[in-house]
Amino acid sequence: MKKRLFTIVAAALSLGAYGQKFDINAIDDNEEPEPQTSSVRAIDTVNTDDKYKKVVLFEDYTWKYIELERPNISDEDFQDAWEQEQIHAYTDVTLASLPAEVDLLLADSLHGWACPIQGRVTSGWKFRRHRDHKGTDIALTTGDTIRAAFDGKVRVIREVADAGGYGNLIVIRHANGLETYYAHLSKHLVAENELVKAGEIIGLGGSTGRSTGPHLHFEVRYMGKPFDAERIFDFPNGQLRDTSFTLKKHYFNIYSHFGQSDKESSQTTERVVHIIRSGDTLGAIARKYHTTVTRLCSLNGISANKMLRLGQRIVVR
Ligand SMILES: [Zn+2]
Repeated sequence: MKKRLFTIVAAALSLGAYGQKFDINAIDDNEEPEPQTSSVRAIDTVNTDDKYKKVVLFEDYTWKYIELERPNISDEDFQDAWEQEQIHAYTDVTLASLPAEVDLLLADSLHGWACPIQGRVTSGWKFRRHRDHKGTDIALTTGDTIRAAFDGKVRVIREVADAGGYGNLIVIRHANGLETYYAHLSKHLVAENELVKAGEIIGLGGSTGRSTGPHLHFEVRYMGKPFDAERIFDFPNGQLRDTSFTLKKHYFNIYSHFGQSDKESSQTTERVVHIIRSGDTLGAIARKYHTTVTRLCSLNGISANKMLRLGQRIVVR
């Protein structure tokens, strides 16, 4: 009889009951529902040293443990290149050494997923204001909960002072081969080396570091190399685009983004970029590269009277 109650209580716990496969009701899967002849109300839940185990207290002074579903990973999954001194791992792995494409299984019946936060994308993967923007910015209100994208292990936690532009940062490595970065947080709720379940709340959104307003800067990396996170998540709808993903080498190019055809995307690797020097004008650059100002504007998403700055990169074809 009580088992039913546990299920209800378990479902009410907010430990990341999110994502498709993170189902804490699974505790009871093999039990036939029993008819309820009387009801004893649960009055409180108490944490234990184990975050996936809680104590439920009932109004008749009885209590019971409930087990939440655990991450479907083990520490042994994370032995290789477990870098914690620096934010980025695999810095010795070159792009040239990676395969042309790799098939990644993002989620299945045993491995869940969760969109880190559902919301409007305010800035995507692109070259922006003199530097590559290697992540996706999602609008939020400071204090909004941020969730782990997949089951994983926290590789790096950095405070504002130590993370440069990232502000408060969490980096999680996942068994599916990816790493995810969560930046500008107002608060961390996990520790380094902690295992986390997909959908588990890992921190609170904020505006720490190089940020002009509250948002999550979210990155996805494979072997330390970032690519457009919107290829994986549909942030406005809070959805994983597919449970499997073919990662192609040209996706690592900053001009290769979600929404392009594969041909457009692969052409980005042949892009020619001009770095602005003193005295450069769009007209002079157009002449130099045998193109037009209109074409330059369209390639770079700028207007013809745009001020050029030294060191700025302009795609010329
Ligand atoms: Zn960003």
